[in-house]
Amino acid sequence: MIQKTQPSAKALVPFVSVANMMRIIHHVGIEQMLIDLATYVEDDFKRWELFDKTPRVASHSDVGVIELMPTSDGEAYGFKYVNGHPKNTSEGLQTVTAFGLLADVYTGYPVLLTEMTILTALRTAATSAMAAKYLAPKGADTMAMIGNGAQSEFQSLAMKAICGITSVRLYDKDPAATAKCAANLANTGLNVVICTSPEQAIEGAQILTTCTADKQCATILSDNMVGAGVHINAIGGDCPGKTELAAGILARSDVFVEFPAQTRIEGEIQQMAEDFPITELWQVVTGAKPGRSSDRQITLFDSVGFAIEDFSALRYIRDRIKGSDFFFELDMLADPDDPRDLFGMVQRAAP
Ligand code: NAD
Repeated sequence: MIQKTQPSAKALVPFVSVANMMRIIHHVGIEQMLIDLATYVEDDFKRWELFDKTPRVASHSDVGVIELMPTSDGEAYGFKYVNGHPKNTSEGLQTVTAFGLLADVYTGYPVLLTEMTILTALRTAATSAMAAKYLAPKGADTMAMIGNGAQSEFQSLAMKAICGITSVRLYDKDPAATAKCAANLANTGLNVVICTSPEQAIEGAQILTTCTADKQCATILSDNMVGAGVHINAIGGDCPGKTELAAGILARSDVFVEFPAQTRIEGEIQQMAEDFPITELWQVVTGAKPGRSSDRQITLFDSVGFAIEDFSALRYIRDRIKGSDFFFELDMLADPDDPRDLFGMVQRAAP
């Protein structure tokens, strides 16, 4: 019997490294990629009901959280590993890092392993803009971007590419973060205004994005700062005990969420009673429930990040790398000639 010394093609798993994710972005163009990802997310929100859904599995510590985010549409299964450590930046490390895997439900074999630190920033921004497309006031052209860390440029560019904003007003408690964000957004076509307070940042803005990282119930926006008719895109409150908005704002808003069972634990609405009324965003996307229905309404996307958005992003990358050289093949799956002779394979000399 001929003994294979190399793993067979079926056992090699495509792997998208950080360098290759950067090549994909440069090849596609970042705004086009945000538009494409938003389309994948929107398509999956339209078929929301067929997914397996569970709140993410979170392991909390005093300094952060490590989470697994699984879901399946019955044909593919995906999960993301992601952390959230607000103290990391003070040690020269990132708050959020991630990687993810997609598998074939029929065989159970993995079909893609990929970096997801960059992909998470892209999918979060694409999801924010997809939600704002349904919820923000018509003709919104200005966004306040409060929290100018790793996610902020992605959030700004997605709102430009998908919702058509032309101006972004930046504020961060650390002026160096704002300077970094402003420099990165120069030459993107956005009018960038550097602000020295959250009050200044929200002046004239129809979309208010909060994307700060702090392991506490913070008040980035207080009740009196939020006027009628705006859309709030609340990104940073995504863990028990980690929120950004005054409860009074929630009481005056129509709140839209991803998966209620997860958002009630992790989102801004953890501050409210268990039966606080919310609308599931997927129902707005399918047309089953209204999104924005009046000029004076305050809409609030209480984003925590849900597994289906990562699944959409994994699906996009799987499709995008087909026929390309944007990946390596990983020998991460043992593949004995006789599937029941794993031991025999181990006894042979390693290739
Ligand atoms: P980051 O650490 O790179 O940036 C956070 C920024 O917030 C920092 O520049 C910090 O100075 C600023 N900040 C903290 N407190 C502030 C305050 N009171 N006022 C103004 N600015 C303040 O983090 P990041 O990767 O940009 O992520 C931001 C937040 O978004 C995190 O809390 C993260 O957990 C969350 N997040 C949510 C999703 C989602 O799907 N909803 C996805 C990714 C990240």
